[in-house]
Amino acid sequence: MDLLEYQGKQLFARHGLEVSAGEAVETVEEAVAAANRIGYPVVVKAQVLIGGRGKAGGVKLADNEAQVREHATNILGMDIRGHVVRTLWIEHASDIASEYYASVLLDRSAKLPLVIFSVEGGVEIEQVAEESPEKLVRQHVDPLEGLSREQALRIAADGGADEDVREGVADALLGLYEVWSAEDATLAEINPLIVTPERKVKALDAKVSLDGNALYRHAENQDLSDKENQDPIERRASEQGLQYVALDGDIGILGNGAGLVMSTLDVVAQAGGSPANFLDAGGGSDAAKIKQAVELILANDRVRAVLFNIFGGITRCDEVANGLIAAFGEIKPRVPFVVRLDGTNDVQGRELLQNAALANVHAARTMNEAAEKVVALAAEQSNNGGQS
Ligand code: GDP
Ligand code: MN
Repeated sequence: MDLLEYQGKQLFARHGLEVSAGEAVETVEEAVAAANRIGYPVVVKAQVLIGGRGKAGGVKLADNEAQVREHATNILGMDIRGHVVRTLWIEHASDIASEYYASVLLDRSAKLPLVIFSVEGGVEIEQVAEESPEKLVRQHVDPLEGLSREQALRIAADGGADEDVREGVADALLGLYEVWSAEDATLAEINPLIVTPERKVKALDAKVSLDGNALYRHAENQDLSDKENQDPIERRASEQGLQYVALDGDIGILGNGAGLVMSTLDVVAQAGGSPANFLDAGGGSDAAKIKQAVELILANDRVRAVLFNIFGGITRCDEVANGLIAAFGEIKPRVPFVVRLDGTNDVQGRELLQNAALANVHAARTMNEAAEKVVALAAEQSNNGGQS
């Protein structure tokens, strides 16, 4: 789960990192009021989950109310590479003597946290890695020991931080490491980590990704996800505890179990189809659950046909069939469904479906058969759609 800059900075502040005071706002008037409270000069910053905001014109300094008004008006609603700006962060502007870079992330191949530091900040770190790799310090940390002040100071020195700010850089690295570890982050990055003319070290930007699977341990972080920019159906699904992912094709994919759903995507693609979304309905077979899942899949109006793929293990196919029949008694699907039932009690399940003779529901036995059928039905639907 990626955080907006200001949310990252709020986490930073909680762990003792130096950041500028600021306010998050959503309208021009709020921006002006916030700037007047904070005191000029301020910086007006687009809050979107993508970097390079400065280059795109989403970060602007303002010396007075008129400039805040102008920048806020321009930046709100701006589209930064597909991310529409709905929130601004207004903070007191800092004077900059140097721009450094610092991050802590999980190095999956080494199975260790990795601290990266460079005095070449403010630019993309990939660029530094390519053009001047000698200016990048990379140090693994023993997760049981944590980052020591000694190691942090060594990183600052090895990276060539000015001598008089090495203590400040070490503080920043220690704070960043604490954010990474205590908040269950997979990435905590500061670019730029600035040195002010007064020789203070401060985080001017924040990029934090939290591990969604560890979120249950952090009640206070649970409402940080960027709900506004989330697909509304994905949001509904996550509120109902279901795994739903929006894609851009026209075939809805529904299955019980993440692995099965993933392979269903592949089989449908192989049959020449293009998935519109996928939903893992989990192990449930009761009508209410199935109804919920079907409603979510159909909420996307690009869906022209749905493949409901069930492999019965502990979940019995006859129970799923009964659940489906009950669910379809309540919602009449507007597009064809292909239901593949295989595994425990599949014969009974298919028989139940056949006897129920639901309109728009086709039974299939194998995944390939189901995929071919659903691709053909989706194509038929889109031809019909073209004529009407
Ligand atoms: P990004 O472009 O999305 O990485 O956004 P940043 O928050 O990193 O801001 C981009 C650039 O704007 C920074 O590298 C700074 O050079 C500049 N900037 C941001 N805040 C301030 C500030 O308070 N004072 C000054 N002078 N420049 C700033
Ligand atoms: Mn930045």
